[in-house]
Amino acid sequence: MIRTVGFIGLGHMGTPMVSRLVDAGVTVRAYDVSPEAREAFAAAVPGAAVVGSAAETADGAEAVLLCLPNSAIVESVVAELDPAEDSARVIVDMSSSEPLRTRALAASLADTGRVLVDAPVSGGVSGARAGTLAVMVGGPDDVVAGLEPLLAVMGRPRHVGPVGAGHALKALNNLMSAAHLVASSEAVLVGEEFGLDPAVMLEVVNGSSGRSGSTENKWPNHILPGTYGAGFGIGLLVKDIHIALDLAASTSVPTRHAAATVALWDEALAELGPTADHTEIARWLRDQGDVANR
Ligand code: NAD
Repeated sequence: MIRTVGFIGLGHMGTPMVSRLVDAGVTVRAYDVSPEAREAFAAAVPGAAVVGSAAETADGAEAVLLCLPNSAIVESVVAELDPAEDSARVIVDMSSSEPLRTRALAASLADTGRVLVDAPVSGGVSGARAGTLAVMVGGPDDVVAGLEPLLAVMGRPRHVGPVGAGHALKALNNLMSAAHLVASSEAVLVGEEFGLDPAVMLEVVNGSSGRSGSTENKWPNHILPGTYGAGFGIGLLVKDIHIALDLAASTSVPTRHAAATVALWDEALAELGPTADHTEIARWLRDQGDVANR
């Protein structure tokens, strides 16, 4: 198994992912552009070395893992990495990035003998802590096979195709997840106003055909208790579903439902701001009803 890695992006997801790597005996050289994030990470994961730049993470590392907000940031961070022979040859983008930009980045790295693998994740902060993330891997067979034991420390890697395939699948997954959260929120709020107990509704739905990750996890753990702390910001979710919508536009598939879902989330983002937890959409929908009824 790969024993030494660089890791860039120590936010909600990166921090618990590195924590699992360190617990598995992997040597990690970690970096984040934000001093606050570096400080919080150093306190949370004392077993990892925090270095002073993106380039330093790659020194002596077999691979550099990225868990960053978007493709533009991934491209700028990759440009900071040293293409020299003694630096990491494999770069693994675990962010939720844009599949076509990922392919273009992989092609641009090939000149320097480096390989880009996309390995975005699903399962949220709780899945990152538990090491149960779904890891959707795109890249060449031999490189992906070499990475699998490392990725298995963080979750369940599944090789889904060539580079970019993981990012495409991840965006489509989040489109489904965003639609489920809106659908379940509208339905629970309607039931509640009719007089049903939301907890009873969820209990029954979770044994019925309406269930989803939203009814099984987001509603009972983050919305009903009023904590809204899933750890996934609306700004990142809206980025993902626009990636999915762009992907859809490159096909002949009619996606009117997806377009409506994205429009609703765009509105929520404009009102709640990018750092609000995505589960706050339920509160936002409820508040809109309250306003309409006044
Ligand atoms: P986050 O905003 O908590 O963390 C991102 C980190 O990247 C921040 O600490 C930020 O300072 C750092 N960063 C930004 N620009 C940088 C740069 N130029 N150099 C170095 N560091 C830089 O985001 P997150 O919730 O951890 O999500 C990370 C990625 O994982 C995103 O692509 C997101 O869509 C995806 N994702 C998130 C979740 C979730 O539940 N939070 C789940 C699955 C996938």
